[in-house]
Amino acid sequence: PHASSSDQVLRARAERVIPGGLWGHLNARLLPEGYPQFFERAESCRLIDADGRQFIDMMCSWGPIVLGHHHPAVDAAAAAQAARGDCMNGPAPVLVELAELVVATVPHADWCQFGKNGTDATTNCVTIARAGTGRRKVLVARGAYHGAVPWCSPSVAGVTAEDRAHLVFYSYNDIASLHAAAEMAGTDLAAVMASAFRHDMGKPQALPTPEFAQAIRALCDQTGAALILDDVRAGFRIDLGGSWEPLGVRPDLSAWSKAIANGHPLAAVTGRERFREAATRVFATGSFWCGAVPMAAAVATLRELHRLDGPALMRALGRRLRDGLEERAARHGLRIEQSGPPQMPTVLFADDPGWKRGYAFCAEALRHGAYLHPKHNMFLSCAHTEADIDHVLEAADAGFRHVAR
Ligand code: PMP
Repeated sequence: PHASSSDQVLRARAERVIPGGLWGHLNARLLPEGYPQFFERAESCRLIDADGRQFIDMMCSWGPIVLGHHHPAVDAAAAAQAARGDCMNGPAPVLVELAELVVATVPHADWCQFGKNGTDATTNCVTIARAGTGRRKVLVARGAYHGAVPWCSPSVAGVTAEDRAHLVFYSYNDIASLHAAAEMAGTDLAAVMASAFRHDMGKPQALPTPEFAQAIRALCDQTGAALILDDVRAGFRIDLGGSWEPLGVRPDLSAWSKAIANGHPLAAVTGRERFREAATRVFATGSFWCGAVPMAAAVATLRELHRLDGPALMRALGRRLRDGLEERAARHGLRIEQSGPPQMPTVLFADDPGWKRGYAFCAEALRHGAYLHPKHNMFLSCAHTEADIDHVLEAADAGFRHVAR
């Protein structure tokens, strides 16, 4: 973009008043050349940046947009609730409707609580597990992301060793490492935390093997520890009942956020009866946690996902994307590695240290109207059509041609 583009002007202004120009992972500095920092509008599966460029959105706001931006039924439910009240002295009746809907949707859930961000949910799961077991150690997969507070942040800036003193690490899908970590935790094992699948950034994704999921379940059953599923990223895209439902393995506690309210700020913890008493004792709250508008949006989102069978729809679109990318990459003589569930695709180039090819590929695809990510998993939504996927494939074709040269 031109030095006088709106995006560049906004970035220069932001640089002065916001450390680093923007906190966290949405800093466009981390993205390929030409990626915008600022967006003006979004509609369905399309994004319009501050300079008026339009893209087909393959990130879906990094997960939340599961039905498409400005979904009419979600917008209507949110607007109707907003007209009545949002941030009041307590929740609106819609809290109970939503809790009933979540408990009816998620088989392991006997109860649920709400918060705002995924980190609220993962952190509360850990706290509830410790309160319920009276123990301290939590097993976490090496390299897994569970949020942005000191116990789990990928950065060590400002983090003390004490913040992580009771974490013990295992390797995802590695049963021997799980048992070794459990051995180290001994009788102090409170919980085993697992992501829905291995979705570490910049690496091929891996679905959990049934044996691995069953081994965690068995370990938790033997020791009384809580199996915590971090379904923040994958929840409601793989299976409406929870991402391990297809494996037949049910967690004791699950953390949800992202897709639950199609972009409205909401997170949830669901749990089994056994942890209800602990969840009652843990002090969980936030000034905005009873906000009614996101809850009304969540009811509409979950109803729509049920009606459409959202996961199946997104899986079919994701397969079309995957097959098309495979074919086009091969046509250009390029080797790519596609991984993850089709509705959350990760596309990496073979032998691509520093993701150089990935960045060049995405920068070129962006110029052709597709907003992709070079090393993080992407997200399908129910708003994408086959024609949108085909448009993305054309943009990707330009990207492959660029990389092949
Ligand atoms: N867990 C997982 C698996 C996530 O992907 C994320 C967000 N990327 C979080 C937890 C934290 O969620 P939030 O950013 O909403 O706090």
